[in-house]
Amino acid sequence: MADYEGIDFLAVGSLPAPRVTTADAERIARDEFGLHVSALSLGSQQDANFLLTETDGTVVGVLRIANPAFTHAEIDAQDAAAERIAEREPDIRVATLVHRDGVPLAATVETPDGPARARVLRFLEGGTLSTKGYLSPSTMASLGDLAGRSSRALVDFDHPGLNRRLQWDLQHSNEVVAHLIGHVSDPGRRERVAEAAASAWLAVLPVAGRLPRQAMHHDVADTNVTCRTANGIVTPDGILDFGDLTHSWAVGDLVVAIASVLHHPGLEPASVLPAVLAFHAVRPLSSDEVAALWPLVVVRAAVCVMSSEQQVTLDVNNHYALEAMAEEWAMFEAATEVPTAVMTALIRERLGLAGPARAEALEEGLLRGLVASEIEVLDLGWDSELMDRGSWLEPHAEESLAAAALASGAAAVVTRFAQPLLTASRAMATASPATVSTGVDLWVGEPTHLVAPWPGDVVSLDDGFELRGVDFTLAVTGASLAGHAGTRQINRGDDLATMSAGARVHLSLRMVDAPRVPALVRPEYAPGWLALVADPSPLLGLSTSHDTRNDDLLHRRDHSVASVQEHYYDSPPRIERGWRHHLLDTEARAYLDMVNNVAVLGHAHPSVADAAGRQLNRLNTNSRFNYGALVELAERLAALAPDPLDTVFLVNSGSEAADLALRLTLAATGRHDVLAVGEAYHGWTYLSDAVSTSTADNPDALSTRPEWVHVLDSPNSYRGTYRGAESWRYAHDAVQMIDALAAGGTPPATLIAEAFYGNAGGVALPDGYLSAVYSAVRRHGGLVIADEVQVGYGRLGRWFWGFEQQGVVPDVIAVAKAMGNGHPLGAVITSRDVAERYRTQGYFFSSTGGSPASSVVGLAVLDALRDEGLQANAAGVGEHLRRRLLALAERHPLIGAVHGEGLYLGVELVRDRVTLEPATEETYAICDRMLELGVVVQPTSDRMCVLKIKPPLCLDEAAADFFVDTLDRVLSEGW
Ligand code: PMP
Repeated sequence: MADYEGIDFLAVGSLPAPRVTTADAERIARDEFGLHVSALSLGSQQDANFLLTETDGTVVGVLRIANPAFTHAEIDAQDAAAERIAEREPDIRVATLVHRDGVPLAATVETPDGPARARVLRFLEGGTLSTKGYLSPSTMASLGDLAGRSSRALVDFDHPGLNRRLQWDLQHSNEVVAHLIGHVSDPGRRERVAEAAASAWLAVLPVAGRLPRQAMHHDVADTNVTCRTANGIVTPDGILDFGDLTHSWAVGDLVVAIASVLHHPGLEPASVLPAVLAFHAVRPLSSDEVAALWPLVVVRAAVCVMSSEQQVTLDVNNHYALEAMAEEWAMFEAATEVPTAVMTALIRERLGLAGPARAEALEEGLLRGLVASEIEVLDLGWDSELMDRGSWLEPHAEESLAAAALASGAAAVVTRFAQPLLTASRAMATASPATVSTGVDLWVGEPTHLVAPWPGDVVSLDDGFELRGVDFTLAVTGASLAGHAGTRQINRGDDLATMSAGARVHLSLRMVDAPRVPALVRPEYAPGWLALVADPSPLLGLSTSHDTRNDDLLHRRDHSVASVQEHYYDSPPRIERGWRHHLLDTEARAYLDMVNNVAVLGHAHPSVADAAGRQLNRLNTNSRFNYGALVELAERLAALAPDPLDTVFLVNSGSEAADLALRLTLAATGRHDVLAVGEAYHGWTYLSDAVSTSTADNPDALSTRPEWVHVLDSPNSYRGTYRGAESWRYAHDAVQMIDALAAGGTPPATLIAEAFYGNAGGVALPDGYLSAVYSAVRRHGGLVIADEVQVGYGRLGRWFWGFEQQGVVPDVIAVAKAMGNGHPLGAVITSRDVAERYRTQGYFFSSTGGSPASSVVGLAVLDALRDEGLQANAAGVGEHLRRRLLALAERHPLIGAVHGEGLYLGVELVRDRVTLEPATEETYAICDRMLELGVVVQPTSDRMCVLKIKPPLCLDEAAADFFVDTLDRVLSEGW
């Protein structure tokens, strides 16, 4: 112990936990501190911890018997550091020393392993982060923030007890590895750990001398961080166990924090980036610290697995250590999943720090005899027309597109560098597929010589060769290469190999010191990989192209679009393409679209696109001209409506349709009063908004409706005033209200209601509700409107219109959304009589309502709905989906109910199945997690606690299963 006053792990060699039983703990508490408590062992790797509880259940604190190897000064330092953090960061809960009557509960006690310090420390409620399963980006950010603030609080902390050498101290990890590696029993694993630790250490060495040092907790790990959980959202806000307090590289606090969570379900290296960003915001990282960060994560993981293996052999009964070992291996696997150079470059990019200077200038002339103008660039990105009509899903799409380009005269075909390739996308994948190209693919029409663009060494690979130069290594891989065997030195202009006609090779250009780079990488890691490579296109005489269009779109949106015109998600992906029930972002990630009732047929439906395209080439004008499509569409809609609804108005949206429907009824009756139901949305125009009562869309809706709007109690049979068998009372109360209005001299002109309660989350109205209410309104001379904007048009499966479910016929139907498959199109369908009475208001004109283009789209939608049997599909797949969701509800108490019919379903999430407390925050968080796993789903209802499920009607069973399985995973793993 020459250099260290405290523990020197490398001198001691091992630290088995002190042998103290719960009976010993209770005795210590009584004899030393006068506490009459029961003790519960909490487990620890190198100390002994017991939760002390009084007979009435009051928790006194945690009795911690430190390892006898630690000195008094070391323990004092830990308590002083805890106090320091508690003082400087009052928002952080800290496991400080408990005092009774001003006296600290600390004493030296005898253990079978010698005298040890025993203290009672503050117990932090809420459980530790280690038990929380999946951790969301915001939880991760809180963890980074916590580590950063702890580090900041201790920056000037000093104490003699810091003079110690722990096995955890990253400064000593190279020696610790040498010391412990023998404990890894499996030789293969031993070699991997040793190798990973050694190469990570090599990356640390150049900056080691410049890494800032300070006093630090050095174990802000998931097991030592306690959480506050409010509304299902986990926030780390407490720190315990200062046993590893030391003076070391400050970055270590972040290293330990992020390494500790890598084994959590659903997490991967990129998941910890929010923690890094949050730490950096509190306690900025230097460039050297960034260089050391991920290598130290690998080193930390290596030390953890070795220590666990050692601890398990030391003490076969230490279950805590045994359990920890599996997690530590998972941590090691995750830490080494992506090369450290990639992680470092990725972290630099995310922190906005410049990377090391890199060579760029490249010579052209790789292909002998080919000039750039003869080479066709194959665009496989999101906005390429080649990707239309779902071609990205076809097997070998790239091959056939390249072959077609060669056949039509190109001498060579080349893909784009750094482009997310749609052809590499996969529908329904919970992890983003590797889509971003790190090189280019090349096809040639005729046999072509590849020549060396610079002098260097040629080395054969299994599937090609590499040319190693001064700055870059050019890797050429592919099946049809000839003449490259062996290792040799080569001059500029020498032959490298020959490509045969039609053959495909992959060209990749990486920095000489970079690891081998896969041809495609996942978008989350792309900035990291792309920092290690260069665009090979200049070798072919082509200019470099790096798409940066994504960079600030949301920022631009925030500046140019009114913020009240909101978007889905706080951090939405950029969605630029759709196909059937899939949406694609610009990184070529496919999402299952469970929310898009607008795209009823599916996205980018060919017949709709063709119809619109043909019409736009021919004529598009306002609807006062006489042309066929408008008439045909009106005839088709009238034919779909029950008698006597035979007259159609064409408009552009649901709001307009609802607005016009209301105007028609006001005009026809000459009255002013309107009935609406609670929890409903009908649009944003003055009139449709006046009858909208949903507090989710407008929190003040109920208190600000005009006096002529009379709101019926929301007939929600799941959670409204009347539930289940009592739900018939809604109709009874509504009829009374209508009678009272009439008796009071204000009989309603109309009632507007969704015929199936869409905005409440797909809840069917109580049986007989509309029949009773319609009759009452009509009895007093009023008319009734069915708002079918959301639920109509076949979505309910069993019925084309929602009102059919209630066995009623309205006087006016308002319809939109599905009508145009996303193209703005709406309609009002009513009787000739009601329509004619609008004359009192002048005449009706909507410039583009029913324009030629809109009308042909409307017709194409109706044709496809019929020809593709989509209503029947909604019934079949919807029933399958509903059954599976009901089965899920049996296993997950959070699901309070599954509402709906066909492909209009709602999964209502509640915190308690008796009180029905809405799980609003959980619903939002679940939607965010579902997005990460490749599913677009959103909350609805006044309480925003219902997952609204209204996908394109082409949804198939496989997609329905993917949705349910993914939801199951989220509900099981956490969100
Ligand atoms: N009615 C209902 C029932 C709706 O759900 C909506 C839109 N959510 C509208 C009307 C208004 O339709 P749009 O957004 O097309 O104006």
